[in-house]
Amino acid sequence: MLGVKEKFDVPAKLCPKSFDKNGYLVLSLSHVVGWMANQIEEKAKEVTNVTIDLFTGFSAHKVAIENERVVGVAVTENATSEDDYVYGKFTAFGDKGFISRDVVDHYKLRDCPQIWSVGVKEVWQVEENYEGKVWHTLGFPLLEGTFGGGFVYGMKDNKLTIGMVISLNSKDPNMNPQLKLQEYKKHPWIQKLLKGGKLLKYGAALLPEGGYYSLPKKFQVPGALLLGDALGVLDVKNLAGIDRGLECGYIAAEVMYDALLKNDTSDEALAPYQKRLEESFVVKDLYKNRYFRYAFIENDKLLREYLPDIAHSIDKSNAWIGGMKVFFKHPLGATKDGFRSLGLIEGKFDIGPISYQHDYKYIDPGFVAPKYDEPPYDKSTIYSRADAVFYSATKYHEGNQHIDEFNADVCVKCISTYEALNKTTPCVADCTAEVHRIDIVDEIKKHGMSLENCVHCRTCEMICPEVNLRVKPTEQGSGPNFSGL
Ligand SMILES: Cc1cc2nc3c(=O)[nH]c(=O)nc-3n(C[C@H](O)[C@H](O)[C@H](O)COP(=O)(O)OP(=O)(O)OC[C@H]3O[C@@H](n4cnc5c(N)ncnc54)[C@H](O)[C@@H]3O)c2cc1C
Ligand code: SF4
Ligand code: SF4
Repeated sequence: MLGVKEKFDVPAKLCPKSFDKNGYLVLSLSHVVGWMANQIEEKAKEVTNVTIDLFTGFSAHKVAIENERVVGVAVTENATSEDDYVYGKFTAFGDKGFISRDVVDHYKLRDCPQIWSVGVKEVWQVEENYEGKVWHTLGFPLLEGTFGGGFVYGMKDNKLTIGMVISLNSKDPNMNPQLKLQEYKKHPWIQKLLKGGKLLKYGAALLPEGGYYSLPKKFQVPGALLLGDALGVLDVKNLAGIDRGLECGYIAAEVMYDALLKNDTSDEALAPYQKRLEESFVVKDLYKNRYFRYAFIENDKLLREYLPDIAHSIDKSNAWIGGMKVFFKHPLGATKDGFRSLGLIEGKFDIGPISYQHDYKYIDPGFVAPKYDEPPYDKSTIYSRADAVFYSATKYHEGNQHIDEFNADVCVKCISTYEALNKTTPCVADCTAEVHRIDIVDEIKKHGMSLENCVHCRTCEMICPEVNLRVKPTEQGSGPNFSGL
């Protein structure tokens, strides 16, 4: 638990069991995926009549649907001829919504919207070796009520991964996740870890947080199925998405293989996929933890009042005194809230189905974030958004247009609304890179974009209050370089 200046180590006994990862490895997913690609290509060489093609530089741009069946994807943005498509008996979608949302929308699969958080992350080369050490933190700098936390992972070769996962259903229209990460790094404990260090990489990506009630009604549709984050199986309580994504992959592969052996490509051929996932730990855990995220939405005092009280008490005395203060300040309220919220967090009650709103609907344009005195810090460890982009090694082809703005007039109105409140628009404030900007054209303030800076996280799309943006897949292998993140 972090106060603004001090930290409090929560006793291991009080940490959820799922956090006990003694003996596990800390790995960069980008390396794991590269390793898996080599393994599968080598394996294929041993099997006659099997060819594995991995087209890593190609994005799927559009879902091809014929007679209500998914038949493949377009692999160019403006597909005009058959050569622009890849067809398959089955298509598996595992992208974080870039095009899988079109499958979800076309077949009306989701009644309860998905809610998202954004993970912002830096990799540092540091003086000391922290290999294998993992810290998860609550509190500073999220003391204004937004759900989320920080993490520090010690990697080999004196590398340190530092990041924050921050929910996008924040009330604050100017929440700015990249700035929050910089504030996090100003904490004296992290400053000490970074001493003499050098920034190597920066990146950002979304995580689906809705869990059980945001799952699509069907995990498969005729000719296609949804995997991992596209399906939304990340278990936010257990901080686990990778193993769930892998499990989807294993089961999907077996189901598709069985269907192909039987030469069965009927609409029902993929039905065992959902059934097997529902019987696996993937959906069972989601069900068990179905109210975890909701508990913090239902009662915003947990993060807006109680957590800051405890965090500030860490700076003054200790967390236990903060806990007592919360109790004495609101004797009845805190007991009632604690009972109800802990019950939901631990899955002890059943309150029936719940529903979320889209992330942007939680924004309160007039929200005022509390201020606190910053601890002293080494300025060379802090990076502006524009400078951080350099470390994500983005590279785009000429003429790249991967974000659509649907209506420029809507933006003009949005800019003036937020300016009247002494704020900037959510897209400008919350972009994890330096993409969205306000230009003055003919004396009118208009929305503009420097797309070459985009780290391709989709945050802006989720928090635009007017649903006026769409972040599309990039072309020709363009985009940030996630390798090593
Ligand atoms: C900062 C951060 C920290 C995390 N930490 C952990 C952790 O410690 N443990 C854990 O279990 N989980 C963690 N997660 C969650 C975990 O990374 C995800 O749940 C998991 O990677 C989901 O796997 P996936 O295969 O569904 O999607 P992804 O890993 O997102 O893979 C999707 C792939 O599809 C590609 N793609 C996207 N669009 C297209 C397209 N149109 N055409 C072709 N390819 C496309 C992408 O480039 C990507 O390679 C973390 C997430 C973040 C953001
Ligand atoms: S893109 Fe959305 S958030 Fe940005 S200015 Fe336009 S309407 Fe506002
Ligand atoms: S423009 Fe949107 S997708 Fe690109 S980095 Fe900014 S928030 Fe992420």
